[in-house]
Amino acid sequence: MEKVLKHGRYIMGPEIDTLEKRLCDLVGVKYTISCSSGTDALVMALMAGGIGPGDAVFTTPFTFFATAEAISMVGATPVFVDIDPETFNISPRNLADAIRAVREDNNAIYPLPDYRGKDAPLSPKAVIAVDLFGLPCDYDALSTIADDNGLLLIEDAAQSLGGAYKGKQAGALGDMGCTSFFPAKPLGCYGDGGAVFTDSDTLAAKLRSIRVHGMGGHKYDNERIGLNARLDTLQAAVLLAKLDIFDEENQLRRQRARTYFDLLNPACPSLFLPSIPKGCVSAWAQYSILAQNTDMRTRIIDGLDKKGIPTMIYYQKPLHLQEAYGGLGYEKVSMPVAEKISSKIFSIPMHPYLDEETIKKVSRAIMDYAQG
Ligand SMILES: *Cc1c(COP(=O)(O)O)cnc(C)c1O
Repeated sequence: MEKVLKHGRYIMGPEIDTLEKRLCDLVGVKYTISCSSGTDALVMALMAGGIGPGDAVFTTPFTFFATAEAISMVGATPVFVDIDPETFNISPRNLADAIRAVREDNNAIYPLPDYRGKDAPLSPKAVIAVDLFGLPCDYDALSTIADDNGLLLIEDAAQSLGGAYKGKQAGALGDMGCTSFFPAKPLGCYGDGGAVFTDSDTLAAKLRSIRVHGMGGHKYDNERIGLNARLDTLQAAVLLAKLDIFDEENQLRRQRARTYFDLLNPACPSLFLPSIPKGCVSAWAQYSILAQNTDMRTRIIDGLDKKGIPTMIYYQKPLHLQEAYGGLGYEKVSMPVAEKISSKIFSIPMHPYLDEETIKKVSRAIMDYAQG
């Protein structure tokens, strides 16, 4: 950071280029376009994909609001697709149904949003798959469906940087991968930041242009409508330092997750603990557990709170039931799995520097209150 203060190139300084090269190596992609946040990464990806009004973008209702918000920001319509009950990620089987429902404009096939388009029904254009809590989605199934239907596959890897799917790194699993450097994410900076990853020359060039006001060949030449969505050079400097220990931190998080499982699994058969499908590596952005029901969850959360142990509920309310999306006309029970899981889920402390004693203390407290 001192080096940046000295050279003073706060906007697009040399650290940005260095960071983007290192992220390409980490994720295993040809291009990294750093940007101002994970939300802007998603907006940029949708803009680069030419997504706009009248387009349907399929996504999960069980994610942070920004995933769907980005779809709305480009004028497209989110079509929510319920999740898999074990991974909490978008269900490929439901996705196939939802695409067919949009194509046939028939919500008897799958619940669809209210859409009062000018003259035509929604046109299926893209999927945003979210690697929730750090666990990559079922990309073999998702990319087959996306390819069969000519849809752009965007990976929301805001929580999964450091995770992997069948030997490929999270961030590299769709046509474009979007991540966030918000401080609480696996690779966090000291403010807001994000990046888009891609192997496509055309998309990379568009993303670079969109990041700086739709810039063309030179600064005051504008080819398209874009954004001001650059990453600060100071944040790039922070990220470069944190990248040096990123692998080690990832490994530590995986060990912490293993310890939680070894302690809780034999002691608490009434809890559903996260398990990692074969071929996947989770970045363990969160360690999230399902209680049997809301009462049991409340009992555990209150009990832990009394012992000074923080918990969080990701996510209390699935997106199709958020007030902001009231206009889409989704009803309760339209996404039954996401609704059920949001009533039972809670997350416990998870970070690389959790010591063994704390993990034991948290686990013992959960055991006490899970028994009732
Ligand atoms: C955090 C997050 C985002 C948004 O990232 P910001 O950097 O906060 O804008 C988007 N999607 C998911 C799944 C996230 O967890």
